[in-house]
Amino acid sequence: MTKTDIRHILTIFLIFLVCFIFSQKYISSLAKIDKNLYNIGMKYIIITYGCQMNVHESEKLAYICEKLGYTPTDKREEADLIIFNTCAIREGAEDRVFGNVGALKKLKKMRPNIIIAVCGCMTQKEQTANYILRTFPFVDIVLGTFNLANFAHYIEAVKTGRQLEILKEGEIDETVPYKRSDRDNAWVNIMQGCNNFCTYCIVPYVRGREKSRKEENILKEIKEIVEQKKFKKITLLGQNVNSYGQDLKDGSTFSKLLSDICKIDGDFSLTFMTSHPKDLTSDVIDVIAKEKKILKEIHLPAQSGNNRILALMNRRYTREKYLSIIKEIREKIPNCKITSDFIVGFPTETEEEFKDTLSLVKEVKFDGIFAFMYSPREGTVAEKMEGQIDQKTKKRRVNALLRLEKEIQEEKRNGRK
Ligand code: SF4
Repeated sequence: MTKTDIRHILTIFLIFLVCFIFSQKYISSLAKIDKNLYNIGMKYIIITYGCQMNVHESEKLAYICEKLGYTPTDKREEADLIIFNTCAIREGAEDRVFGNVGALKKLKKMRPNIIIAVCGCMTQKEQTANYILRTFPFVDIVLGTFNLANFAHYIEAVKTGRQLEILKEGEIDETVPYKRSDRDNAWVNIMQGCNNFCTYCIVPYVRGREKSRKEENILKEIKEIVEQKKFKKITLLGQNVNSYGQDLKDGSTFSKLLSDICKIDGDFSLTFMTSHPKDLTSDVIDVIAKEKKILKEIHLPAQSGNNRILALMNRRYTREKYLSIIKEIREKIPNCKITSDFIVGFPTETEEEFKDTLSLVKEVKFDGIFAFMYSPREGTVAEKMEGQIDQKTKKRRVNALLRLEKEIQEEKRNGRK
């Protein structure tokens, strides 16, 4: 064999090798596209219940659906993928979910290929998840709150049968972005879970213990949002934002996070929810007072104005402590808008104790309140308490509180304080 022959053979071999590599890449990219093409023309709808945390998590689900090739629709009848992102905080919200899922039975019969998924706080409770599977056999996917980031996997896997997965705890997912649905406001999750175990609340059982995101990851996400110049407002989210960083043990605190976010160049305003009175410390109030970017508004759930009821609720502050925080806020941030939440008809609450709630509302003159009737949640301490209050009394109390609230707002509007 001459040298020229060897050169020819080598050249042919090289050409063959290059062609082979390119064809493999082409085939694999086709396979990837094909996976998404599979869903092209298909539509999804997400029905979200409950708090802002859920609304924000639905933004993650929307991103996943669109990555898989689905497009959004607001009509359940034309959707190929129907997702219920549920809330467990009140019995009424759960009943609405059961009703709405049940109503899909006919649709699934007519179009057996649609995928129905139920996820969120309700399905993080194993008992409820099993109840859904038993009662609504046409539901394809039941997922807990810690599995949401893997939703794409479950959609693919659904072809092999019904899917149920509930992880007990999970890390905060940093890998899947959000399809931000709000036009002006960008939600940013800074932590998940809660360590407080208020006796009426299901959150610590379905969202796990507090887990804070690393400050550097939060700052990176906010810088990206600010650079997009699409959002005027950024809202930090967490069940108890004031205890941000305590689990990280690296010196992170909520006040430091707020002040570091304010150092980011750009035109945006900053706010947060939700605060717990026992953790709203002076350093946080000082940062809100000092930083121009932070909106002068605080939502500070009081829940009751009576110390015995607050202790039964395991809120770990007293009426006096709550009022002292309000005083400090008003002294340091005179124009601060303060809003609150109240629960009436907590087990054993007497008429006199309820009047303490009315008197607290009268004294503080909030800029707005949300009033709820106590709703027993399965698995919580309060559910098992003696002295549950009847529905009629709860209704009367909540109406009295709302009437008072209306009068206060009218007074404020008329300038008589
Ligand atoms: S602070 Fe209390 S009410 Fe709020 S999420 Fe935690 S346990 Fe529930």
